[in-house]
Amino acid sequence: MSNHDTTPASYSLRLAHLYPDLMNLYGDRGNIITLRQRCAARGITLTVVEIGIGDPFDTRCFDLIFMGGGQDREQQRIAQDLQAKGPAIRAAVADGTPALAVCGGYQLFCRSYQLGRGEELPGIGIFPARTLHGGEGTPRCIGNVEAEWDGGTLVGFENHGGRTYLDAGATPLARVRSGYGNNGDDGTEGAVTANAFGTYLHGSLLPKNPRFADHLLLLALRRKYGDAVTLTPLDDSLEQRAHASAAAAARRENARRRRGA
Ligand code: GLN
Repeated sequence: MSNHDTTPASYSLRLAHLYPDLMNLYGDRGNIITLRQRCAARGITLTVVEIGIGDPFDTRCFDLIFMGGGQDREQQRIAQDLQAKGPAIRAAVADGTPALAVCGGYQLFCRSYQLGRGEELPGIGIFPARTLHGGEGTPRCIGNVEAEWDGGTLVGFENHGGRTYLDAGATPLARVRSGYGNNGDDGTEGAVTANAFGTYLHGSLLPKNPRFADHLLLLALRRKYGDAVTLTPLDDSLEQRAHASAAAAARRENARRRRGA
């Protein structure tokens, strides 16, 4: 390998974006834009391939997998197709491929999602957890979230009717400080299996959490190019301000809820 091959500029990643037309709530596509921008700033080539219903999905051709959120109706439309892609996605995750699934995508990356009317959508079982929707009268979990992650915090915006319950021994992504997270009861937010991350945080997530965006990129690059890969630091002052502002909003909303207002 020549020196040139080991410079960051020669790195390239391929990202599979699952169902971008159907699963894209509250700016989830912004996650892809952030990954693109953070790669471009470092001379890393990021190729994004959109994978829709009926499309073949050879996960071996990809370094990252992303799926955004969607309402129950969209989830019903894709559930069967996702089942067909499930074995390949499970194999990719078992092989260390980083994946990020948000809200409706997260729910379908778990074992199952029981809709309010009792119908159960099968998930692909990446995360050992299930989601229950209590039906029409059940209040939705809506608002800003701040959750402890890796010595800092993740922030984002949640809006979900389903409550996700992790199996005993499952690993949450983060611990809720303000907001609901998985279910509003046990303080957990999201889930982690190998390098796959599930979360309720839209917002979108990655623009306001640059450290988490880089975590995903670094996992993907190290898997492909080896553990010596490092990322050039970027000026994240704007992103940090967005992070702080979302965290402050989450705290304000939390205080208001506590007062019962
Ligand atoms: N339909 C799911 C729910 O309401 C997920 C919604 C979302 O992705 N925001 O629980």
